[in-house]
Amino acid sequence: MFYTSILESVGVIDFNPRFWLRVDIKNDSSLCWEWRGYLDSKGYGRMNINHTFYGSHRFVFSLMGIDIPPGLVVMHSCDNPPCCNPLHLSFGTHLDNMQDAIKKGRHISCKYPAPVDGRSRSAHSTARYRLKKLFLL
Ligand SMILES: [Zn+2]
Repeated sequence: MFYTSILESVGVIDFNPRFWLRVDIKNDSSLCWEWRGYLDSKGYGRMNINHTFYGSHRFVFSLMGIDIPPGLVVMHSCDNPPCCNPLHLSFGTHLDNMQDAIKKGRHISCKYPAPVDGRSRSAHSTARYRLKKLFLL
């Protein structure tokens, strides 16, 4: 297949066409290779195998003969959820992922800073919901 050599160059050992034909493989391993199949609400690729959905960015590791260590998440260095380029993926803890998100300004706390009045964010959400319900905003 046309993409075998580029896949080999990034460590892939299983050229499963069911998976790789759904990935926009570029002839440049520095670019993102986006999943073209189903995306979840956060933009992550999902594939259905025997009625179970798997994250496409996680499935890449099985095609490299690598098990994801228990308790670790797969992080995108490119911050592009549908990307399946092995060179853009790495393992980390949930804490690593959160710290990376904060460092790059994409964590929810960066977009919606905690209220300064000491009330919790959820208290503000509840108040906003009540206002919307009252005034049908
Ligand atoms: Zn990428």
